[in-house]
Amino acid sequence: MSSVTPTKLIWCDGEFIRWEDATLHVISHVVHYGSSVFEGIRSYETPDGSSVFRLNDHMKRLLDSCRVCRIDLPYGEEELVSACIELLASNDLKEGYIRPLVLRGEGAIGLHPGEASVHTFIICWPWGPYLGADAIERGVDACVSNWFRPGPNTHPSLAKLGGNYVNAQLIKMQATADGYAEGIALAPNGLVSEASGQNIFLVMSGRLVTPPIDGSVLCGLTRDCILTLARDMGIPVAEEAIPRERLYLADEVFLTGTASEVTPVRSIDRITVGGGRVGPITRRLQRRLLHIARGQTTDKYGWLTPVPGLQDANVASDAWWDEVPVPQLGV
Ligand code: PMP
Repeated sequence: MSSVTPTKLIWCDGEFIRWEDATLHVISHVVHYGSSVFEGIRSYETPDGSSVFRLNDHMKRLLDSCRVCRIDLPYGEEELVSACIELLASNDLKEGYIRPLVLRGEGAIGLHPGEASVHTFIICWPWGPYLGADAIERGVDACVSNWFRPGPNTHPSLAKLGGNYVNAQLIKMQATADGYAEGIALAPNGLVSEASGQNIFLVMSGRLVTPPIDGSVLCGLTRDCILTLARDMGIPVAEEAIPRERLYLADEVFLTGTASEVTPVRSIDRITVGGGRVGPITRRLQRRLLHIARGQTTDKYGWLTPVPGLQDANVASDAWWDEVPVPQLGV
């Protein structure tokens, strides 16, 4: 369970307000019907200062989510990007998590949002790995959830819509109640979909596979990074349907997400994945991604946006991922 360490300021509808003033009335549409869209973004300390990872892409996805949900946002991508950069500098947050959030407020109470106001917030706070540093290093135990993901044309899975996350909460709560760190959900057709807040990858005989964007998964930006990096590293990749039993047969399994980064899975339904250790492909991809995010490898993809007000960051040289040995690849 994660608690939030507040920062000083929140960006709200074009202004900076104090953390404690960012409140809502209980009659707000979002409170009743889950009518919000949001993003989760990370910033990292690099040797050249603080940088935000895939900032423009996250803001594009926020705008896409608004479009699907018929929310007219008075801000464009660049305004949101600038607001985010200014917010990080104002809060002096060199490394942390950023949550842009658009919600329907007061003005209507029926299902049709009608004249309900729309408010845009950007919140940031310090936040380590979602499932803990140990999870990233050693992996987590997961189960297959008996909650399915919503089918295509039910909830818009490609939109990061607040209401979608009731399903995610059920998956997560059931998994933790049963003693697992994460739940892997199936799509309504019984094929593997994604975890509660992460995309999933399997390594099978040196090939990397992940479910396609089929209307039941979020098109994760970390997923995109992993597909890009794997291709560049010469690892064969495929987006293909994954029957449940393949989870038990894979050599390696890992989850990807902005909050969870690259989290290895060491068992599923108490069946050990591969050799029970973090596999070589998982470790290589995990390390490559972190090295780019932390400015320790050239960012040839243009994934980093520097935060000009925070250029005096300093990266500890004893970061754990430099200590963990990287096994040799058999591909
Ligand atoms: N699936 C779901 C349901 C998620 O909530 C997330 C987190 N945003 C992801 C996948 C991973 O997406 P990303 O890599 O863009 O954070």
